[in-house]
Amino acid sequence: MKNRLFTVIPCYNEQEVLPETAHRLLKKYEDLIARNMIAPNSRIAFVNDGSSDRTWEIICDLHASNHLFTGIDLSRNRGHQNALLAGLLTVKDHADLVISMDADLQDDIDAMDEMIKKYQEGCDIVYGVRSSRQKDSFFKRTTAEAFYRLMNRLGANTVFNHADYRLMSRRALDGLAQFREVNLFLRGLVPMIGYHTATVLYERHERFAGESKYPFKKMLAFAFEGITSLSTKPIRIISTLGFLMFFASIIMSVIFIVQFFLGQTVSGWASLIVSLWAIGGLLMLAIGVVGEYIGKIYMEVKNRPRFLISRFLEDEKNDESDS
Ligand code: UDP
Ligand code: MG
Repeated sequence: MKNRLFTVIPCYNEQEVLPETAHRLLKKYEDLIARNMIAPNSRIAFVNDGSSDRTWEIICDLHASNHLFTGIDLSRNRGHQNALLAGLLTVKDHADLVISMDADLQDDIDAMDEMIKKYQEGCDIVYGVRSSRQKDSFFKRTTAEAFYRLMNRLGANTVFNHADYRLMSRRALDGLAQFREVNLFLRGLVPMIGYHTATVLYERHERFAGESKYPFKKMLAFAFEGITSLSTKPIRIISTLGFLMFFASIIMSVIFIVQFFLGQTVSGWASLIVSLWAIGGLLMLAIGVVGEYIGKIYMEVKNRPRFLISRFLEDEKNDESDS
């Protein structure tokens, strides 16, 4: 079985952690190669996402010191998701399988063995899933878990407690390359690829050194990006609300008519309130309908692949021999 492994690691100002990450990964690679699990020409690929510190120099030194290390330097800072995609698509044609992970050693590198085993058993995508988030701060844990739940409610299917630690086969990466969208939310896109998948549980550690590059503001922006890039359900919510408001105005008018005959109305008030709700509801409904079309255009513009073929049982003999 072909097993040239590339590990892709996006790095943004990671000079504090890089030497240790490289050291541990190198040991892991040497072990995997010795056990014949991966090919000797496998690589560890660091993607420098426009760092302003010594990250790129460290990557160059690593590359010079050992052929297992390689580096990709982006022209400027493009953010985690883009840096990761750049790495994946750059190494895709050289690798048989690719593992992506963060630079900060939060993901347990010992889970790689099991991921590779699943690949050998025929899986195209293996998701690394955190068994618990005890090591994350309470705030990060609750906000992150609430976010995953909200995403799934809004119709954007993600794998619960899975970040970007995952293995993908060449075939899965070819599939990913067909998603040409610019607003990138990889952990929502990858499940759309399909094929055989599996999950591997691992314990998430604390950041080894340095600071998180995802402060709360960036996390919010990331969440918003995830929802808007995967789902048009918020538009549907507006139309539904509009319809409900309009419906409420009808109910109100019925109640007011009954009250009128019972002689309980204040003159002028009922017609005012009913028309307020009716017009408000109709306006919202109208915006929702326009939104539905915009949502459709949005999805069309993304030009996502409509299908990926997993297997095709072709005839052994030449087709011409049939005729
Ligand atoms: N990262 C990146 N570009 C950015 C921000 C982050 O490449 O603009 C990388 C970073 O170096 C790390 C990974 O993305 O390898 C995840 O970032 P971090 O560990 O800070 O996020 P957290 O684990 O706190 O969510
Ligand atoms: Mg981290």
